[in-house]
Amino acid sequence: RIVVVGSINADLNVLVDRHPAPGETLLGSGGHITAGGKGANQAVAAALQGADVAFVGAVGKDPYAAPALEFLRSSGVDLTAVSEVDDTTGLAVITVAKDGENNIVVIPGANSLVNCDYVSSQSALLAEAGILLLQGEIPADGFKEAIHHTMRRVVVNLAPVIEVETSALLEADPIIANEHEAGLILDQFGAGIDSMDPHELAQALLDAGFASVVLTLGSAGALVADATGITDIATPTVQAVDTTGAGDAFAGAFCARLIKGDSLIDAATHAARVGAYSVQTAGAQASYPDTSVSLPSV
Ligand code: ADP
Repeated sequence: RIVVVGSINADLNVLVDRHPAPGETLLGSGGHITAGGKGANQAVAAALQGADVAFVGAVGKDPYAAPALEFLRSSGVDLTAVSEVDDTTGLAVITVAKDGENNIVVIPGANSLVNCDYVSSQSALLAEAGILLLQGEIPADGFKEAIHHTMRRVVVNLAPVIEVETSALLEADPIIANEHEAGLILDQFGAGIDSMDPHELAQALLDAGFASVVLTLGSAGALVADATGITDIATPTVQAVDTTGAGDAFAGAFCARLIKGDSLIDAATHAARVGAYSVQTAGAQASYPDTSVSLPSV
């Protein structure tokens, strides 16, 4: 099974004509809560693609926990290792202006308790993982501890890019990143990244010591790199309405295929179609396809 050790958020969605200046009060609209957090997004995407997924994480004992867990529950993710703690549920306040520009404030809340102690208390679950899937929205010591307890494959989407010990990070096989994240990861290895194209970025990550690399490139698709070479992955052409959570859809769907025995290239080819599907409708988890959906083709 896939074990995700990661974040669970409630997203509070606010719409404004323009962003307020400091000290200014404006009227907005929206105000609805949707399920988010990169860990939760990826777990839901993987479960909807047919994978057996368990989650290690935390929510608060507050009214935001239920909407944050809605899709994790409905998609069948095992939540026995999600604890209810005396803190607030992770909350992202997302303000989108008419021009599409967004401002986001994230309150980690309960996610900050997914630390070394908590993760090590879930060692039995981690030891069973066929794939451990990690992101950068939990404390670095929890991230490292999860890798420590995993016997098999580790897949990392280091979003956001946090400071993690490079020896732990290099366990990622593959590391999944967009171009921006790839640059920041290379910074951590002290590798210069002046104007590299995606192939050069992927090669630099291999040179830094990663066994395999997957770069996601938005409407340009993705690429897969390992010792056998670098392969471009095409993505279907679709009408993009909302790209929020496309990278998470990709990472979750990718792992769902990898654990069934697909090659990196086959898994990425499928994940690109799932990512493309997800940008056609609003939201993150609400836009993810299950296996009954016919996906767009390249
Ligand atoms: P992130 O959100 O992490 O930056 P990307 O934007 O690269 O991730 O999206 C992940 C994947 O979703 C891409 O590799 C691609 O396959 C698909 N995707 C994203 N945006 C589009 C788009 N506009 N058209 C087609 N596919 C897309």
